[in-house]
Amino acid sequence: MYLSKSKYCNAVQCNKMLWLDKFMPLEKGEISNQAVLDNGTEVGILAKQLFGKYVDIPFSEHLEDMIKDTNEALKEENTVITEASFDYQGNFCSVDILVKKGNTFELYEVKSSTEIKEIYIDDISYQVYVLTQLGYNVVKSCIVYLNRFYVRKGSLELDKLFIKENVTKIVKEKQKEVQEKIEEINQYMLQKEEPKDDIGMHCMTPYECPFFAHCTKHLPEKNVFKLRRMRNSSKFKFYKQGIYTYEDLVHEKMDKKVKQQIEFELEHKEPEIDKTAIQEFLNTLSYPLYFLDFETYQQSIPLYDDVKPYMQIPFQYSLHYIEKEDDSLKHKEFLAPVGEDPRRKLAEQLVKDIPMNVCTLAYNMNFEKSVIKSLASLFPDLSEHLMNIYENIKDLMVPFYNRSYYVEEMEGSYSIKYVLPALFQDDPSLNYHNLNLIHNGEEAMTAYQNMENLSLEGQEKLRESLLKYCALDTYAMVKIWGKLKECVK
Ligand code: SF4
Repeated sequence: MYLSKSKYCNAVQCNKMLWLDKFMPLEKGEISNQAVLDNGTEVGILAKQLFGKYVDIPFSEHLEDMIKDTNEALKEENTVITEASFDYQGNFCSVDILVKKGNTFELYEVKSSTEIKEIYIDDISYQVYVLTQLGYNVVKSCIVYLNRFYVRKGSLELDKLFIKENVTKIVKEKQKEVQEKIEEINQYMLQKEEPKDDIGMHCMTPYECPFFAHCTKHLPEKNVFKLRRMRNSSKFKFYKQGIYTYEDLVHEKMDKKVKQQIEFELEHKEPEIDKTAIQEFLNTLSYPLYFLDFETYQQSIPLYDDVKPYMQIPFQYSLHYIEKEDDSLKHKEFLAPVGEDPRRKLAEQLVKDIPMNVCTLAYNMNFEKSVIKSLASLFPDLSEHLMNIYENIKDLMVPFYNRSYYVEEMEGSYSIKYVLPALFQDDPSLNYHNLNLIHNGEEAMTAYQNMENLSLEGQEKLRESLLKYCALDTYAMVKIWGKLKECVK
């Protein structure tokens, strides 16, 4: 079996994942692949500069070319090589950064994460195994990852942005394990029939397996893994006991909100509406009433001053508002120009658009509050106003989180993406699928980040779609609030 570092890591999580990937690749589901994100290329490219001058081995479909180029580069006595490539009996690896000092070697594996995961140790252990078997004297192994406390001030300081964690000792201890694992993989991959390995917690850690739908095909559609508000460990515990259908689960002891999901879906119960609790919630709101929603994006490598890796950077908001009872609905919005730090302009506009001492509704307010708080700490001159908005935010999610309003179609979720279609099943104006280009937050984030590369016409189209998308978010909140008011009449 030909192995690479990512294949080896997949097999560490589950041998069957590797088998399915090779023999039944069409069964692979589409999930956001955290493993790919951890190996982000942008971070990898920047980290190459950590040791100054370096020789880069260009990627080639023909691995032997990469190995040949590596051998050439290794003729230097002291050198830094990126993507240095090696093969030991079909076990291939490209080392992110290889530092050669005389006849000793240091390996650096770069991750775009802000913390070390155990699988990274397996990753670098495999590389050290390959190099050691080829006779290289590896004296140091490090994981290079992003420092989440680093705040950019002026030029990027690579030695502060990146943390180099020395994992040499643990990597040495793992060498025998790597050898055994490679032998195990080679045996495992000889199987002609699909292996029967059962699902378990390993399907979720360190990464959610893209074959989970395939490996749970034997379960009925309504099964324990469809439950919300239940830990994965509890789900697998039930599964291992053979209790996985809703019919069986309904007799088990569990959180009453989880039980409610099961009962509603089994018995198709009528909506459950606690009018007193909803009225109490509505009593906490007052006019003028604002409905706020931000769109944000994240940069693994901070492009602007006062940005940390993966900090939420707001670039857009939508604001619906009603000044007094029975007044008409009005709308304001902001979408930052591309190619610059959007925060100052956004914060200035926000304090113009939301007056002091008004009630503002957000859905899942912790997110909006954290964005406002970070703007307030960044701009002291706007801080008083921003913190006033912060203090007056109320959460429209509360009645749904508390299950004061619950219908079967919410499927146990209190997310607006479930609550909205459940409350307004046949309203095309509230259907995100009917939007052009942008249908969810992830698409909005990606579109905004890539907008700079588009023609002016393309940018204009995208701006229009972004504005429509974000406006729908707050319009949806207005409709949900209206529904709550209606039900207590
Ligand atoms: S779903 Fe679980 S058992 Fe199936 S391949 Fe993935 S990790 Fe392995």
